Amino acid sequence: MEDRFIKSFEARVLKTIKRHQLAGKGKSRRIVVAMSGGKDSATTAYLLRKFAKRLGCKIAALYINLHIGNKEGYSERCLQAVKKFCSGNKIPLHVYDIKQETGCSICYIRSGVQQKLKLKNCAICGVVKKWILNKEARKLKAGRIATGHNLDDEAQTILMNFFKGNLMLNVNSGPATGIIEDRKFVQRIKPLYFMPEDEIRQYSMAMKLPVVYEKCPCAIDSYRIATRRFLNKFNNNTKRRIVDNFTGMLPLLRERAKAESSPVQYCKSCGEPARNNVCKRCMLIKRMQNNKIYK
Ligand code: SF4
Ligand SMILES: [Zn+2]
Repeated sequence: MEDRFIKSFEARVLKTIKRHQLAGKGKSRRIVVAMSGGKDSATTAYLLRKFAKRLGCKIAALYINLHIGNKEGYSERCLQAVKKFCSGNKIPLHVYDIKQETGCSICYIRSGVQQKLKLKNCAICGVVKKWILNKEARKLKAGRIATGHNLDDEAQTILMNFFKGNLMLNVNSGPATGIIEDRKFVQRIKPLYFMPEDEIRQYSMAMKLPVVYEKCPCAIDSYRIATRRFLNKFNNNTKRRIVDNFTGMLPLLRERAKAESSPVQYCKSCGEPARNNVCKRCMLIKRMQNNKIYK
């Protein structure tokens, strides 16, 4: 029974990778997996490593230490899990330490901007992490960044943006992101895009992957929690229909977004690709530095 599940799970992930050409074409076939210490990114890295030869690509892992919690806190436990996973699976690991690089933890950055900007924890963290991922992936000469986003995450996000009345917010989503084409922009891919969370949990347990199963203590977005609770009243087929319906519309939405969006610029502060002359991450850092808490 378990063998059958494992085979079917792996076959479906491989199908997604091939159908959506997630491993890319040509020379830049190095994929960096953004590891969080959780089951989703560990499963992503494990399967990409397993399929690497068949797909003709090389795999590396990147862990961003955000310093959430104290010395034995959440980030530290995740780091230890990622180290164990990478050494057990012979995947080279690169660690980016936010404290070493910027002088403060993500919680400190958040506390400096949150009240004024009224942004959710994950919104701030997401901007900072995306910036780091893109920059570090380029340093590692990666053609792709793989993340562990799953069917539940995607169905929730689509529904949340629909409830907000702005499905266009999702336009950069899909199994492979990308309305932005730029030499400095590394495409993000989601090999588990169509895989339900409960199946990923089952797979990671069956394969005994060393992961942290607890949720990030900062993930307290009440809107997402409410959407998740609502969606969990339905089965995986419903979540799949939401995602399929959205991906069917995606080419049209992307065409519209491309026609309406301004050309990519380079942030005058950090040089990274941006929609305005200063990128979102640098705007946050600047706000934090101007804030009294920081001074
Ligand atoms: S759950 Fe939210 S706060 Fe926690 S690491 Fe992820 S994006 Fe950051
Ligand atoms: Zn910038």
